[in-house]
Amino acid sequence: MSMFNILYKPAYELVEEFKENPDLMLDYVAKTYERIKEVEPKLNAFITLRSYDDVVKDVEKVMARLRKGERMRLPGILVAVKDNISTKGLRTTCASRILHDYIPPYNATVIERLIKEGAIIVGKTNMDEFAMGSTTENSAFGPTRNPWNTELVPGGSSGGSAVAVSAAESTLALGSDTGGSIRCPASFTGTVGIKPTYGLVSRYGLVAYANSLEQIGPIARNVLDATLLLEIIGGDDPRDSTTLGISLDELFNKVMNSEYSLEGVKLAIVKEMVYGADEEVLKVFYEAVNKLISEGCVVNEVSLPIVKYSLPAYYIIAMAEASSNLARFDGLRYGLHIPVSGRSWYDVYMEVRSKGFGIEVKRRVLLGSFVLSAGYNEQFYLKALRVRRLIRDSLMKVLKEFDFIISPTMPVLPFKIGERIEDPLKLYVIDVETVLANLAGIPAVSITCGFSNDLPVGLQIMSPPLTEFKLLSFSKSLEYALGFRDLVPKGV
Ligand code: GLN
Repeated sequence: MSMFNILYKPAYELVEEFKENPDLMLDYVAKTYERIKEVEPKLNAFITLRSYDDVVKDVEKVMARLRKGERMRLPGILVAVKDNISTKGLRTTCASRILHDYIPPYNATVIERLIKEGAIIVGKTNMDEFAMGSTTENSAFGPTRNPWNTELVPGGSSGGSAVAVSAAESTLALGSDTGGSIRCPASFTGTVGIKPTYGLVSRYGLVAYANSLEQIGPIARNVLDATLLLEIIGGDDPRDSTTLGISLDELFNKVMNSEYSLEGVKLAIVKEMVYGADEEVLKVFYEAVNKLISEGCVVNEVSLPIVKYSLPAYYIIAMAEASSNLARFDGLRYGLHIPVSGRSWYDVYMEVRSKGFGIEVKRRVLLGSFVLSAGYNEQFYLKALRVRRLIRDSLMKVLKEFDFIISPTMPVLPFKIGERIEDPLKLYVIDVETVLANLAGIPAVSITCGFSNDLPVGLQIMSPPLTEFKLLSFSKSLEYALGFRDLVPKGV
């Protein structure tokens, strides 16, 4: 498929065309649904796809709003939504048996904002159950496949969202990132993913995994599209007390018009973050680094020994929060129901959770309860919180001296479905580069920096809290300098 095809056009260009000629939206939606029909059986990006007729009805409403002269920032643009973000009247499963038939009675704030701007939800995307994983294999709805090679994992946990965008089943997508779940699949599918500063995007309506770490964020095929989506979903929300009183209005225009020069930009590479990455990944990463140096960037290596504790700290905190968040799934209030009459609460709770949760979720609930239990709390959880503070302080120190910290997004290339899933530690270790931004609450972007064996390699860029404008302007300049933008995958 050619990138000049309407399906591969950037959202910000489509928006202008739709404003001129609203009828074009129908053509775009029809072509997208043909594409979905063709590739979805091979990819399994969606858990719930909305019907073509329902989507066309929504498009007609947006066309009427446009004709009345209403100004919208995303009229007619299809957005795929990770299945842990609540959508009113549209099933939201978190890829779990326990929520198999759960239909939320309300929309998440991010969804309300999208609808207000004329965006159209195309469906709910596959993910690791409750966002726990890095491959989209931990799903009660089967694995999602990578459109660059369908034998391989697409990354996770927002794998369905990244695949939908990469394979042109949707123009934009929402993911959530607790410890890399937007950036990992962006890296594995050759798309752009943003993990925003903690508190920049409302989490109202996001099914919580680990509240202190996670953010909803955009996945797109280029930095500007991702920026536009971030501008729309971001900003203060009275319904989420952790949101900051920040307005993102004009972020897209500002980034669009920025001409961020690469000359003299100071970049740090943290030794402990790249140590241990696979050779193929490092080769592509350092080729990109050399290109940046030739464009005028100044690159230095720094050492942060505390980084070696980031994975244990992340997994202890994430599991502790997960065990507490997931206690609410009791079979009475949401989703899976079983007969209760004459049975004790204990029996019902145990049966629902035994049947409803997958193995990785159970593992984390158990480990999370353990690290919080009396006697072990101090040894694990409180220690992890202290490590988190040290990590944040040391990253902030580096970011005082340098503009950005760069690294490969993932230490490995996309691997075979089934290859690592039996051994959880083999999966946990590949989050070594991504979890830092969540522990520190800082923003991070993944963009494609090259290819190895026809598979995309992601570059991660981190910056201080609330510096999204600078981070995205720099990312846009990098995207042009490196030359990998609006990629079309070869595998489907
Ligand atoms: N792989 C990480 C985990 O399993 C990341 C998950 C996420 O960001 N939602 O916890």
